[in-house]
Amino acid sequence: MIESTPRIAPVGEVVGELRRRSSFVMVSHVKPDGDTLGAGLALGLALKKLGKRVAYFQQDSVPRNLGFLPDSNLVSAVLPADLPPDTLFVFCDMSDPKRAGDRLPPVDRENVLDIDHHLGNALFGKLNFVIEQECSTGSVVMRILRDLGVPLDARIATCILAAIMTDTGGLMHSNTTPEALDVAAELMRLGADKELITREIFANKRVAATKLLGRIIDAMRFEHGGRYCYSYVDDEMLAQTGADGEDTEDTVNVLLGQEGVDVAALFKAIEGEIRVSLRSSGRLNVQAAAQSLGGGGHFRAAGLTFHGTLSEAFASVEAALVAQGL
Ligand code: 5GP
Ligand code: MN
Repeated sequence: MIESTPRIAPVGEVVGELRRRSSFVMVSHVKPDGDTLGAGLALGLALKKLGKRVAYFQQDSVPRNLGFLPDSNLVSAVLPADLPPDTLFVFCDMSDPKRAGDRLPPVDRENVLDIDHHLGNALFGKLNFVIEQECSTGSVVMRILRDLGVPLDARIATCILAAIMTDTGGLMHSNTTPEALDVAAELMRLGADKELITREIFANKRVAATKLLGRIIDAMRFEHGGRYCYSYVDDEMLAQTGADGEDTEDTVNVLLGQEGVDVAALFKAIEGEIRVSLRSSGRLNVQAAAQSLGGGGHFRAAGLTFHGTLSEAFASVEAALVAQGL
C-alpha cells in the first residue's frame, strides 16, 4: 500500500473515528500542564458520555495545581492490562510523540490520533487534527466536541477553560484572540468554574515557591543591551527554599516581563537534567531557537532539554537566540 502524505484531517473524519472506536487512551506530555491535561480530560469526559471506555496515560504525576480538574484522579503512568487491540491513543498537545515519555509502550500509527496546536507538529497519527492558529489544544478539542453531538456540561467546560487559560497566561498572551475569548465566554455560560481555575492555577502559590522566585530574580542576568534576560534554578536553590520543580512553572514569564526584555530564558538544572524554558515578546522566534537544539514549541513560548553543563547550556541557548536575530 502506498503511504499517503500526512495531512490535517477534517473534523468530520475525526468525529467518525471517535464514534467508530470503543476504547481510548488519552495521552498527555511529560511535565504536564493545564492544556495537555485539560484537553485530554475534556475529550475523555465527552467520550464516556457516549458510553466509551476511556483511560488516561501520563508519565509524570498530576501537578498539585491541576488536581482540581475533573477526573484527574484517573490519570495513571501505567496502561490498563486489558486494552482491546483497536484502542485509539489520543495524543494531546505535543508536536512529537516522544513528548509522551519513554514509559509509553510503542503504539501503532493506525491507532494514533494527534490533536495539537504546536508549530511543526510531526503529523504522527493516523489522523492529525492540528490547528496552529488555535490558542490551545483545549480549544482544538472544543472544535471536535461541537461536532461530536454530546451535550457539554460544566465539568467538560472547566477542563477546556483551564486549558485555554493555561496557554493564554490567564487570557493575557498574544494568542488571546477574539475567537479565544468567544470560546471562553461560551464555556463560562456552560458552567466552567473560572474562579476555581484562577485560584488553583494562577493564585494559591506556596510560600516556598515565592521564596524560590526571589532566588531566581536575584540570579537574573541581562545581556544584549538588556533585551535578553535569563536566570536559573538548581537543586541547591530548591533545597534551600523547600520548593520543587513544579514551583518553577510560570517563572520565566516574570523574566520576560522586565522592562526592555524581548527574550527570556529560565534554565532548570534539576535532578541531573537541564530543562530550558524560552519566552519571546514577539520580535524573535523562540520555537526556531528551541528546535535547533532539539526542542520545540511556539513562536513566543518554547522549551528544550539540554545535554551538558549549565554554562554550556547558557552559551548554546544564547547562540541559538542570536541565530534568530537577538
Ligand atoms: P515550557 O517552557 O512551558 O515547558 O514549554 C513551552 C512550550 O514549548 C510548550 O508549548 C511546550 O509544549 C513546548 N516544549 C517545551 N519543551 C519542549 C521539548 O523538549 N520539545 C518540544 N517539541 N516542545 C517543547
Ligand atoms: Mn498547548
